[in-house]
Amino acid sequence: MAKPLRIPLDDEEERSSFPLTEVVTSAVETSSASKLMLLFKDILPMDEDLGHLKRIRRVDNRLEIVLGRANLWESAQSSNEELLRTFNLNPVTVEVSSVEPRNKEEMEEMGQYWPVTYKPKRVRAPLPSEAEYEVMMEHARQIHIRSSSLEAGELCSTVAMIVDPKDGSIVSEGAVDTSDAISHAVLGCIRNAATVLSTRPGALYLCTGLDCYVVMEPCVMCTMALVHSRIRRTVFSQRNEVFGGLLRTKIHRERALNHRFEAYQVDLSCDDYRSS
Ligand SMILES: [Zn+2]
Repeated sequence: MAKPLRIPLDDEEERSSFPLTEVVTSAVETSSASKLMLLFKDILPMDEDLGHLKRIRRVDNRLEIVLGRANLWESAQSSNEELLRTFNLNPVTVEVSSVEPRNKEEMEEMGQYWPVTYKPKRVRAPLPSEAEYEVMMEHARQIHIRSSSLEAGELCSTVAMIVDPKDGSIVSEGAVDTSDAISHAVLGCIRNAATVLSTRPGALYLCTGLDCYVVMEPCVMCTMALVHSRIRRTVFSQRNEVFGGLLRTKIHRERALNHRFEAYQVDLSCDDYRSS
């Protein structure tokens, strides 16, 4: 049996080097540094994957700022020549780390190219035990069987199930309502869970401590709903290439949000549950 994979993958392993990419920088007058940083933020927005780069650095008594990615510079330069002249900018291409540092040592090494910010990762929950994995796989098989009677969803899972891991009981289920653009299975499942939970003594409508099972990776909208619901864990088997909120966008690990949850991808391809 293939073990469920935690998303994003844990990346604590050591690495001996880091990939570099090119950005265009320029020395700037102290008085115009902040203005230019704001201007170039609009002219050449940095992708969020370069969010670890500091936009400004001091070399001796000079300030230098990142104007933007080198591969986008040519067109920006020709349409902003006046700006370059006005502020006496001399663009220089430099190499910088294209990945964020994982620790302070890497921050210092990367800083020899261009300063980067290090944000310590929050400690993640311990990985599930073997017994927990078995239970996860069993629920994943159940939801797969339930979904097979429906057509495969193109945007999101067609069915969803919320389970209480304390006793394995199913708290709620949800199915897509194709007559309504936003009635995805996960949303219905969270709503149904709220109805059930609100009848329990002292309980709220939130899914704190509960797990959600779906076949397809939840879409961005459903992933946000899972964050709002305070779900503990989401388990899926199929990647949602276009709309997924976990593998590529990692909304469930977004530090700016007030809740994060664990997500696991299970591989059911070598299972024989369909014939059993
Ligand atoms: Zn959805």
